[in-house]
Amino acid sequence: MTATHILISGGGLGGLAAAIALAEHGFDVTVLEKAAEFTEIGYGIQMGPNATRILKKYGLWETVAPTAVFPEAMVFLDAVDMQEWARVNFNDAFQARFRHPYIVIHRRDLLGAWLAACERHPRVTLLTSKGLKSVHDHGSHVEVECEDGSRFSGRCLVGADGLLSPTRAYVAGEAEPRVTGFLAYRGVIPIGKVMDHTYDRCVIGWFGHNIHLVQYALRAGDVLNNVAVFGSPAFARGEAAFGSPAEMEAMFRTAHPKVQEMLQYISRDRNWMMRDREPIKNWTRGNVTLLGDAAHPTLQYLAQGACMAFEDAVVLAGRLAASPDDPNRAFLSYQEARYLRTARVQLTARAFGQVLHAGGVVRELRNSLYRGRAPDSFFHEIDWIYRGIPETEL
Ligand SMILES: Cc1cc2nc3c(=O)[nH]c(=O)nc-3n(C[C@H](O)[C@H](O)[C@H](O)COP(=O)(O)OP(=O)(O)OC[C@H]3O[C@@H](n4cnc5c(N)ncnc54)[C@H](O)[C@@H]3O)c2cc1C
Repeated sequence: MTATHILISGGGLGGLAAAIALAEHGFDVTVLEKAAEFTEIGYGIQMGPNATRILKKYGLWETVAPTAVFPEAMVFLDAVDMQEWARVNFNDAFQARFRHPYIVIHRRDLLGAWLAACERHPRVTLLTSKGLKSVHDHGSHVEVECEDGSRFSGRCLVGADGLLSPTRAYVAGEAEPRVTGFLAYRGVIPIGKVMDHTYDRCVIGWFGHNIHLVQYALRAGDVLNNVAVFGSPAFARGEAAFGSPAEMEAMFRTAHPKVQEMLQYISRDRNWMMRDREPIKNWTRGNVTLLGDAAHPTLQYLAQGACMAFEDAVVLAGRLAASPDDPNRAFLSYQEARYLRTARVQLTARAFGQVLHAGGVVRELRNSLYRGRAPDSFFHEIDWIYRGIPETEL
């Protein structure tokens, strides 16, 4: 063990980004990943300019850009009457204001770019099948025990082990995340099988009462990523079994037939429960801190969970570089810089979800308030997100 050896639990997008950010500051990093390989699910992810800026900073852009899609706009449509109610154009004015592009990318391509950077970096050690089981902070160093009985020591520990983070259990003693009763089913299909190509070059969402369907192209436009989300009536009734494909289909019966037709792009094999946690102010205990979903899991309605993890990585590494001999001090400084911004994302995502899923008069009010606004007028609302962390943090 050296004085600058850092352990990271979890090798998802946040953990690998943190590994690179820390290694670039001269720290030796060991990433302990529970799964047998470093991988992501086979679907898409959106990255705002606050995140593409970070991909550029760490030299990932050359790997990411050729496989990414650069959409022309994000379009919000009513799932019942098929009318557009809002649009954000990713045009020259967007580029001039936010300085970095908005992209959509296959998650495996994005994780692959971070993974390749880690594999190349002499200061990063990557270990798989190392599920963290327990944490012991001895002050001078932190020791962790993995599920297979192996032990690792470092000067400090960063828990980037996701929504169900065991490190969070150690730091904050919390139980289960909040279950919202909304679920997502996903599907990726060849673009040739898509029936309507009107919105091929956009991120598009069809929004109805407690349902939505989001679509965008991936892999240089070769395939279409589809995400269908719905609020489960069975969950609302308190039933233990909820969220079946049949329930999804029943919920989408309120949508326009064209939206219902698009459910054929969705795989019924697996679903994802939408869960988050209440924002917290302190996610540090001694020489152990949290990052990404472990620290501030958010609903996906702003498409910012992974973007926040990348921002965390930059800020965390900068603060640790400023106090390398005092990780606790560095971690407190890092969370101080992050907790209000990430809480704002968590709480705004919840509120925006209600706007997106509105029914009845609320839906009509939403449509009447938003329709007719110039697309560039939305830049003001998203400014706080997409401008990202202060330049001084980079
Ligand atoms: C439907 C949906 C759509 C989304 N869309 C977007 C989007 O468009 N843009 C965006 O920015 N975000 C989006 N998100 C959020 C984003 O996916 C997450 O915020 C992001 O993946 C969090 O990264 P993470 O590294 O913190 O956690 P994770 O990706 O969960 O990674 C955690 C890692 O820790 C490992 N692990 C778990 N337990 C242990 C253990 N005991 N020991 C060691 N390792 C462990 C896991 O195997 C995993 O590799 C979306 C989320 C959902 C559900």
